[in-house]
Amino acid sequence: MRIAAGGIMHESNTFNQRPTPLEAFRVQRSDELLRWWRGTHHEVGGFIAGAESFGYELFPTLMAQATPGGMVTREAFERLTRELLERLARAPQLDGLLLALHGAMVSEADSDADGEVVRRVREQVGADFPLVVTHDYHANVSEQVVELSTALIIYKSYPHLDHRERGLQAASVITRTIEGVIRPVQALVKPPMLLNIVHQNTNGPPMDRVMAAARSLEGKPAIVAASVASGYQYADVPELGPAVVVVADGAPALARQGARQLADHLWAIRERLHFRLPDVVQAVREASVSDRTPVILVDMGDNIGGGSSGDSTFILQELLRQGVTGWVVVLADPEAVAACARAGIGASLQLHVGGKRDDLHGEPVEVSGRVKCLHDGRYEESEVRHDGQRYHDQGLTALLEIGGPPDAKASYLLLTSRRQTPFSLQQLLSVGLQPTQQNVLVVKAAIAYRAAYEPIAGAIIEIDSPGVTTVNPARFRYRNAPALRGLPASANTEETKYDKPH
Ligand SMILES: [Zn+2]
Repeated sequence: MRIAAGGIMHESNTFNQRPTPLEAFRVQRSDELLRWWRGTHHEVGGFIAGAESFGYELFPTLMAQATPGGMVTREAFERLTRELLERLARAPQLDGLLLALHGAMVSEADSDADGEVVRRVREQVGADFPLVVTHDYHANVSEQVVELSTALIIYKSYPHLDHRERGLQAASVITRTIEGVIRPVQALVKPPMLLNIVHQNTNGPPMDRVMAAARSLEGKPAIVAASVASGYQYADVPELGPAVVVVADGAPALARQGARQLADHLWAIRERLHFRLPDVVQAVREASVSDRTPVILVDMGDNIGGGSSGDSTFILQELLRQGVTGWVVVLADPEAVAACARAGIGASLQLHVGGKRDDLHGEPVEVSGRVKCLHDGRYEESEVRHDGQRYHDQGLTALLEIGGPPDAKASYLLLTSRRQTPFSLQQLLSVGLQPTQQNVLVVKAAIAYRAAYEPIAGAIIEIDSPGVTTVNPARFRYRNAPALRGLPASANTEETKYDKPH
C-alpha cells in the first residue's frame, strides 16, 4: 500500500492588509519533507509515523507552511497548489493521500482556499480515491472540503497538542478505508454563532465539556471520528464560525445525528460567552503590583499566531510610561536588529522600535539600551508545543538591555528579524534570558502560548489590546460572515454593533 502525504497550511487574517507571498512559505519536498517532519509532534509527523504503525509506504510530495498573516497571494496559492498536483501526478501508483490543510486559508482569489485545494486534488485523483484531510482547530470548515474529502479530522486541543495523534488517526482511517474495513461518510453542522477566541481554550470551560462530548462520541460503535472546530474570527469569509464534523462508517444518518448533537452542545453554551478584559493601562498597573512573578501579559491584539504584525508597541509604551522594570518584550523589527548588529555586542545605542509594519499597532517607541547579545535566531524545541514544530528560525536576533534605576531588575527587548510566535520558552532561553527571573513577560498570543508559559507563570493577565487580532469583534467591519449574526452574546461590550451581512 502506497500513500502520499503533503500539505499547504496557512491561517489567513483578512484584516491584515499585508498579503502573504510565496517567499513567506517554508516548503519541504520529497525526502527533505521526511527529514524535516519525522519525529515531530505535527500531524505530518503522524502521517510519517503511520507508515510503520499501519504498514504503508509513504510517498512525500510537498509541505508548505507560513506564519499566519494576510491573505495568500494568488501567485503563491497557484504555485504551491500546482506543484502539489504535479508531484501527485508524477508519483508511482498511489492508494491514497493524506493532506494537511489549516482550514482557514484565504487566497486573493478564493475565500475558501482550502476547499479549492481539495477541489483540484479531487478533480485530478478521481471520485473514489481515498483522500483524508486534517485541519487545525481554528478551521472555518467549508462544505466543499467535507463534500470532497473521504474524511476530515480536526485537532481536538487548544493549545494544539494533539497534532501527531490526529495525524496518526488520519493514517488509521485511510488505511482501513483502502483495505475496505470501513466506508467513511461524513456530516457537517455549523451553528450560526461566533466562538470568540477567549473562550476557545479546551482545558477549561466551556470548551472542555464540548471536547469531552466529542471524544465520547468518537468512542461509540460505527463512529470513525468526531471533530469540533472553533472557527477563526479574523477571516471575514462566509465560512466563518465553529463547526462539527462527524465521520461514520457507512451510515450517513448516524453521522448527521452525531454532528447535530455536538452542534446543539455548542449552541447551548453561547449565552455564557461573556467576558471583559482589562485595557493596556489597567493591565500594566496590575502587573506592576503583583507579587506573583513572572506576570504574563497577553497582548491579544497582536497575536502573531492569529496573523498580526508582531511589532505592536502599546504595551511596551505603557511599561515605560509606568516605570515598570524587569520586563521582557519581543518585537519583530528587522531594522532595529540591523542597527544593533551594526553597533555590535556591548555597544549602547538609541533607536526607534516597533510600530512599523502598519498603522494598527502603535507608533515606533524610542528606547536606549545596550546590545547584550546577537544570535542567529535558530532554536530547537523538543517538548510538545502548540505548533508541533521542532526547528525554529526567527532570523538574526538582538537582545537589548534597557537601562533603568541602578538597583532595579534589568528589562530586555528581544528584537527578531522575522515574526515569531511565542510557543516555546527556547525563544528566550536561547539568548540567555531566564524567564522565571523576570517580573513581566509580554507574549503576543491568545491561548497557544499557554503550553510553554503556564507552567512558569506567577500570574496571567489577558489584555483587550488594540490590533488586527483584537478580541473585540466590534472593532472590525465584517461584510461576508453570516455567522456574526449570533455575535452579541460573544462580544466584549454592550454597545457592540455589527454590519448586516450583504
Ligand atoms: Zn490554530
